[in-house]
Amino acid sequence: MLPKILISACLMGLPVRYNGSAKPLLHEAVDRWKAEGRLVSLCPELAGGFAVPRPPAEIERAMNGDDVLDGRARVLEVTGGDVTAAYIDGARIALAVARENHCRFALLIDGSPSCGSGFVYDGSFSGRRHAGQGVTAAYLQRNGVEVFSDSEVDFLVEKIAALP
Ligand code: SF4
Repeated sequence: MLPKILISACLMGLPVRYNGSAKPLLHEAVDRWKAEGRLVSLCPELAGGFAVPRPPAEIERAMNGDDVLDGRARVLEVTGGDVTAAYIDGARIALAVARENHCRFALLIDGSPSCGSGFVYDGSFSGRRHAGQGVTAAYLQRNGVEVFSDSEVDFLVEKIAALP
């Protein structure tokens, strides 16, 4: 069976980001996977109950998604709201969707407090970022779904090509 890939909905061109924008990922492999029916599109934040637009949120105190999942950090909106529970709900739904659809891999946009896998912002809403994962990326990864960022499409291509 062809391996399926869970993909951030905003990378598929859907205008679901906090500010109502999309970030379509232009890559030949993504077009091919789409045509092959391999992509399962999901926005963890919408799945967790958020609307568009919504206030931007970051993981507090330069921590990361694993810290949120383990109760050491919260996800806070710029307006001060504690949205931790909804971020964890979105991560759980993302894993359920990945499992239902037999997604072995996830291709997620970097920098997001949900989908980031290489870096996230530090909670100061000043544009400072650090290495770390968002809540959904961390949850998928710890449950056996291999996560790639939007800058790692070529690695995912190689990974799929090397599958037996
Ligand atoms: Fe895109 Fe993920 Fe943010 Fe949804 S949660 S808008 S899919 S980065």
